[in-house]
Amino acid sequence: MSTAVHNDTTQDPVKPSNFLRQIIDADLAQGTHAHNRWAGSPGDAAHQAAGALDPARIRTRFPPEPNGYLHVGHAKSICLNFGLARDYGGVCHLRFDDTNPEKEEQEYVDAIVDAVHWLGFDWKDADGHANLYYASNYFDFMYRAAEYLVETGNAYVDEQSAEEMRANRGDFGKPGVDSPYRTRTPAENLARLREMRDGKLADGAAVLRAKIDMASPNINLRDPAIYRIKRAEHHNTGDKWCIYPMYTFAHPIEDALECITHSICTLEFEDQRPFYDWLLDRLAEGDLIARPHPRQYEFARLNLTYVITSKRKLKHLVDSGIVSGWDDPRMPTIVGLRRRGYTPAAIQAFCERIGVTKDYSWIDYATLEGCLREDLEAKAHRAMVVLDPLKLELTNWAELFGSPDHLEPCSLPALPHAAEGQAMPERHFTLGREAWIEREDFAEVPPKGYKRLFPGNKVRLKGGYVIECTGCEKDVAGNVTKVLATVVPDTKSGTPGADSVKVKAAITWVGAADGVQAEVRLYDRLFTDAQPDAGGKDYLALLNPDSLKVVTAYVEPSLAAAQAEDKFQFERFGYFVADRKDHAPGKPVFNRVTGLKDSWGK
Ligand code: ATP
Ligand code: MG
Repeated sequence: MSTAVHNDTTQDPVKPSNFLRQIIDADLAQGTHAHNRWAGSPGDAAHQAAGALDPARIRTRFPPEPNGYLHVGHAKSICLNFGLARDYGGVCHLRFDDTNPEKEEQEYVDAIVDAVHWLGFDWKDADGHANLYYASNYFDFMYRAAEYLVETGNAYVDEQSAEEMRANRGDFGKPGVDSPYRTRTPAENLARLREMRDGKLADGAAVLRAKIDMASPNINLRDPAIYRIKRAEHHNTGDKWCIYPMYTFAHPIEDALECITHSICTLEFEDQRPFYDWLLDRLAEGDLIARPHPRQYEFARLNLTYVITSKRKLKHLVDSGIVSGWDDPRMPTIVGLRRRGYTPAAIQAFCERIGVTKDYSWIDYATLEGCLREDLEAKAHRAMVVLDPLKLELTNWAELFGSPDHLEPCSLPALPHAAEGQAMPERHFTLGREAWIEREDFAEVPPKGYKRLFPGNKVRLKGGYVIECTGCEKDVAGNVTKVLATVVPDTKSGTPGADSVKVKAAITWVGAADGVQAEVRLYDRLFTDAQPDAGGKDYLALLNPDSLKVVTAYVEPSLAAAQAEDKFQFERFGYFVADRKDHAPGKPVFNRVTGLKDSWGK
């Protein structure tokens, strides 16, 4: 009986059970994978030993193709696969599914490693063995498997043209037609396959096909192609091969060699499952792989409103300069989300919250934003900033304090809702004769219900004094250039503390003397349509022209010490992050992650 560590997560209120957890629970109870070993694995000895030590643990994998940067949909798959392994005391492999030599690059490999680490996951065994694999490391084995299929009459070399093959495949209503090459003997096929391998045939001149059933109602079983000829340099194997395995053939083999127990993928692969099982059954018959086999399970991919998750389309946005790169803060890539200011905790919580089902649905983008607010609410230091600065002059300053240059020290809590017993950090700043306020906080003629600055009205400068507006200055065009006000002394003490003066509004501000100029990038959604590429829509016609607005702002002096990637709540405006790439001491750059509450729907 299995003694593997198994944290029973079904009791955990924050991790409700789902169909995959139920399957794993049942498999662990029945010992389904108890004999799963590294036998036949192409891994090194340490790898095999590590596997032998924990025979009953679940093994999942996250198998990206290194042909682009990972996006929020991949984050769901990562959190699912690594999360299940973590919760059940198992292991999750990171495997590069690099069977397609043309589109794959080292840059993407590195970015994927980074992204998975940053999200908070690791692929190490309990004994420290790193379970990081490349499908291309199994090319020798895959070729051997292909020859085995040929030798046993389970595969043949087809030399029909691509058009003939397509036509003869049939469709949903029409069975396929056998290829004239289907009856070749195993010996003929083997000779031909070796010619393919040895570069004797031109690209596309032949394919190796599994011999299953051209009349199968499942088109994926109508003799699927398993090897193709393609002269292309591979990022890992160089020019060793001119034939490459097809994904559908390679993937089950990768899973089997790595002794994956639960091979979790998105629903598009549901119809591939019969081939997955067929192939592993054939290879097990020839003792090429061990039983029990990995089992494939499918879940519904993440669809997130206002977001596209097609790598091809995301690459187009990058290549055409619509965004500044894969890590543009408007991109739904993991590097983009990171630069935007999303945290690993928020993304993990999001993936947990949306759950895993087999039902097709769209998740509201606000759910992701909500997870960020929940993560940062208690953590992000508060700060005051002025995004649309207008000068304020306190005209009685010199009279009250004896000098126009006098600065009054002020402070506010950095974490106003700090838990009991938690330190109450403070931010310090000064108020002087001049300050920056938001342009929208002054109205010469106040609209109905307006409570902020207008001549004759009193407001509090948050963390500072109560002031009374006395008027404004304008330029020749009539634009307000400065707001004038006086500090209101306390009615009882006569000093400027003014706590007994009741006002209806407090406004945010930044001192002119110690405020720091900063670039603030106000990001919004990249698309104006909630489902920008659904139903054949042209996503390029649905770009939000206001997805980025850059302003020169003033920020309180506590932000001068901000390090890249530090996150803050800018009072009244939302959550912001010091830009990962462009922020530097003396040249602050902040990105808006999200507002304080969901405002998109309004
Ligand atoms: P491609 O079209 O290049 O194959 P892909 O999005 O399928 O794009 P992969 O690198 O093959 O990219 O994906 C790695 C894993 O992430 C796969 O197991 C895939 O099922 C999963 N995945 C991809 N997109 C989503 C999504 N939107 N939601 C959940 N999982 C996803
Ligand atoms: Mg894919």
